[in-house]
Amino acid sequence: MLLTVDALQISFGSLSPVDDVTLSVDRGQILGVVGESGSGKSLTATAIMGLLPRVGGQIAAGRIRFDGADLVHTRERELRRLRGGRIALITQNPMTSLDAMMRVGPQIDQAARLHLGLGRRAARARSLELMADLRIPDPASVYTLYPHQLSGGMKQRIVIAMALAGDPELLVADEPTTALDVTVQAQIVQILVDLVRQRGLGLILITHDMSVVAQTCDRVAVMYCGRVVELADVNAIFEHPRHPYTQALIRCIPRHDMVRGTMTAIPGMVPGAMALPPGCRFNPRCALASERCRVEIPGLAIGASGNGVACHLAEAA
Ligand code: SF4
Ligand code: MG
Repeated sequence: MLLTVDALQISFGSLSPVDDVTLSVDRGQILGVVGESGSGKSLTATAIMGLLPRVGGQIAAGRIRFDGADLVHTRERELRRLRGGRIALITQNPMTSLDAMMRVGPQIDQAARLHLGLGRRAARARSLELMADLRIPDPASVYTLYPHQLSGGMKQRIVIAMALAGDPELLVADEPTTALDVTVQAQIVQILVDLVRQRGLGLILITHDMSVVAQTCDRVAVMYCGRVVELADVNAIFEHPRHPYTQALIRCIPRHDMVRGTMTAIPGMVPGAMALPPGCRFNPRCALASERCRVEIPGLAIGASGNGVACHLAEAA
């Protein structure tokens, strides 16, 4: 496995908005991490990137292993080398990664110079090559433009080029297309999929869009209220979803044959980290909840297949 997260708990003082998160991704594989906002997806990504201290959080328990190495106890200096070098992050808003005052080409060069130790000319040649790989038309001209001169989709391609510049093995993409138009979204997702297939990268694709997951992912981790409630192959998730929350998410996927306005929504809201219900965190919204569900937290029981579910009922079935 390229990356393994095992029983991760992230704390902010006495609150743990991420608790008992287990997932993994291998080279050449796409792991989708899905859930509504507030489910702990981005915090999990932040922990993988070693950036929790910047948001005031800390890893209270669990392990993160990257290519066999323990990331939880890695010093900041070594983490900085990994970040952008072997592990790269792509965020929702390209402008969090881009410098508005600097031409985009040299911003890609910077990453290659920093992580690969390339000289000026070699870095520029590499940037142009990456831009062409990402189907940016006329890379030599785009190289000299400023971010504001580019469309949202083009800016996100530059950010992906920056992420690739250090030749990473793992990409973590946190809602990389949410800020883009629908047609552009599909292009960016396709670019990410091609990168994984062609370069053998591991990709963690964080999204709230189940149709994107269905089209691209190999494996899926479904998160709810900071916990992984189901972890399985994409086929199992869509053909035999076992957790009531996964089942509800799938029912919410808009279908073409639906009349507008009939889309199912999951009743109720995701409780905040300060108001978590006792027992299974999904119990206030679960039609199948029993007395046991209101007292006992179901653990993620992973079977020999590598698939698992955290539900008292599914476990019994
Ligand atoms: Fe529903 Fe109970 Fe399963 Fe939670 S453990 S999802 S409340 S059936
Ligand atoms: Mg998020």
